[in-house]
Amino acid sequence: MNFDPETFKRYFPLFSQAENRGLVYLDNAATAQKPLAVIDAVRDFYLHSNANTHRSSHRLARRATEMVEGTRRKAADFLNAASAREVIFTRGATEALNLLAYSLCSRLQPGDEILLSTAEHHANIVPWQMAAQRGDLVLRYVPDTAGIPQFDRLEESLSERTRIVSLTGGSNALGLCPDLENIARQLRGRALFWIVDGAQLAAHETVDVRRIGCDFLVCSAHKFYGPSGIGLLWGREGLLEAMPPWQGGGEMIVEVDLYSSNYAGLPHRFEAGTSPLAAIAGLGAALDFLAAQDRAAMAAHEQKLLQQLHREFAALPGLRLYSQPQHNLGILAFAPERGSPADLAHWLDEKDIAVRVGHHCAQPLLRAAGWTATVRASLAAYNTESDLVALVDAVREFLTLEESAAPVGAERRADDLSALQLERLASQRSWQDRYRELMRWGKAIGPKPEIRRPQNLVRGCESEAWLVHWMEGARHRFALDSDSRVVKGLGALLLSQADGGTAAEIRALELEALFAELGLARHLSQSRSNGFYALLRQVMSSVEGAG
Ligand code: PMP
Repeated sequence: MNFDPETFKRYFPLFSQAENRGLVYLDNAATAQKPLAVIDAVRDFYLHSNANTHRSSHRLARRATEMVEGTRRKAADFLNAASAREVIFTRGATEALNLLAYSLCSRLQPGDEILLSTAEHHANIVPWQMAAQRGDLVLRYVPDTAGIPQFDRLEESLSERTRIVSLTGGSNALGLCPDLENIARQLRGRALFWIVDGAQLAAHETVDVRRIGCDFLVCSAHKFYGPSGIGLLWGREGLLEAMPPWQGGGEMIVEVDLYSSNYAGLPHRFEAGTSPLAAIAGLGAALDFLAAQDRAAMAAHEQKLLQQLHREFAALPGLRLYSQPQHNLGILAFAPERGSPADLAHWLDEKDIAVRVGHHCAQPLLRAAGWTATVRASLAAYNTESDLVALVDAVREFLTLEESAAPVGAERRADDLSALQLERLASQRSWQDRYRELMRWGKAIGPKPEIRRPQNLVRGCESEAWLVHWMEGARHRFALDSDSRVVKGLGALLLSQADGGTAAEIRALELEALFAELGLARHLSQSRSNGFYALLRQVMSSVEGAG
């Protein structure tokens, strides 16, 4: 195998910055780091070629136009498109899907059907919901088992009215990638449009749209080492030609009259306005960079790490593993049996291991599977064996701490804050009196040695503070401890409002405004105020992390 991850990692200058030397970056499904060539291309564009494309007739404009059209040709090669006319630049996969939902659905009849799956990113659900509402269309879903789509049973959800099938090429929550050949077989001969959401797929495998046999494919450059703000929509030329444009404006027209306009041909008719030119320059560099790599070897390296991670995680007691090692683009999804996923992610962050926690923009999947939130570690080719060792060791340590901690429930001891009256605090005339009252509130927060553990530490507080969160039915409960009386007082203020609330109630609280209204923002030192905001952030992220 012709691939050395350590050498590869050296292309990415973020990792050699002093503050990032110890970083273990496992949030690649959200966005990948950028090689120097991409960073340089963005900078060089502004240094040497900055001008708007097409319209102007000067040297720089020609240069910028050549760069854009050159990148389009590279993108066509990247996807093995039949022609560069089939490649539309968008802001990303999300914008490409919105374009398709708008443009394709504008020609559908009420009652026509769109088929999706439970494993779609919100970007491949919400635009279709909006289009369905506009045009009285019907959304259907591939059969699923406990949330996991059964793509081999896709035909069961097809009908005479199915016009659009828009499915993931790889799920960002689980890594799960469907067998595209099998999907192609089930869709063959039907009069419908097949869209592949290739946002994750393009980051890990070579994409050949002609071999896949789909009608459209979307992806985002930032997932495959390119800059953010630029993505690709590929579509069969004949289909794109027949579609009405999405956004109107400059660049997408040939002639504009007062009451009507003639639209430009492909690809420009779908690119209204000034394109993100520097991002396109960066995309060109990312495509050159990838073309120079042994992509099969990169994928094999990622798969080796993925299999190893699944093996090691499967053997960790106290851990739930949600992802499967087979047909997986590079994602490990898990949660601790005890303690919350947010606590585990927080613990990993303390060790400079970047993972993601929450619903991963795949709420329908998590809901159908019955999970509230998962921790996601996602791989790129610059990840190394030592990254895995760091992750496995840190997770094991967390689980051991949880195991040896007080029995379940012992940590769950909230203070009774019912005697604290906001009116009384607010009615204190002078700042001194109000401060004294706040100190008195702090006394309501009793000592809780059982929660003073690293994973409960609230970052951003000048004085140490520990916060735990749990659910009682739909209500969020919190317990706090700190050595500082001021922090306890501020915590009591916060929890007197938030503790025991539902997610919607807590979201509706205007706690920052309350903090300002009470004069706290004005009178307290910056570091004390920061402590309050840190506690508030932790409360809100616990609420969001719980799903
Ligand atoms: N689809 C999938 C599978 C994704 O992972 C993402 C990004 N997380 C998107 C669509 C949307 O991509 P973007 O935010 O770059 O538009």
